[in-house]
Amino acid sequence: MLVGKILVRRRCLIVQYSWPGPMPPARRRGTIALIRCARCKGPLYQTKLKGQPRQEDHEQGCETFIRAIRIVRYADELKRAASKPNQGRWRSNRRWRKYLLRNAKKLSVAACEPDPVAVVRDLSVQYQAECQARDTPADATRMAEMLMKACRRLALGEAPAPIVSGPV
Ligand SMILES: [Zn+2]
Repeated sequence: MLVGKILVRRRCLIVQYSWPGPMPPARRRGTIALIRCARCKGPLYQTKLKGQPRQEDHEQGCETFIRAIRIVRYADELKRAASKPNQGRWRSNRRWRKYLLRNAKKLSVAACEPDPVAVVRDLSVQYQAECQARDTPADATRMAEMLMKACRRLALGEAPAPIVSGPV
């Protein structure tokens, strides 16, 4: 009987504590701070806030930050290539642009991860699978091959080859 009462009282306490519901901002900030750079262990707070790698989250000369910046630069190049006017049929043009933008987004997200190099390496494996899939159209295969090579180089910390200019 007594135990039952205590339980009821505790349940009330829990209800009281969890009300009004949404997590206080301090707690949410804490959750973001827990995401740390795989190399220098700096909390990626500004990185997550701004949606791009930030020097202030890393130690000076952190190799992961340098590679993350290269990944962002390549994502920007993809976006620029997508905005350039191209010759060719409208449909393939539109598809090509969407493909570029979608993958630019993937790379931008990868650059903000604790270990961008590992993510980019995974992406290169995905692009390789896309290249090898039999049902992939020829122009998409060409793009996937370009991105696969670019991701491999980015994972090694090298600059990728320039982006091919448009759909064939
Ligand atoms: Zn770092």
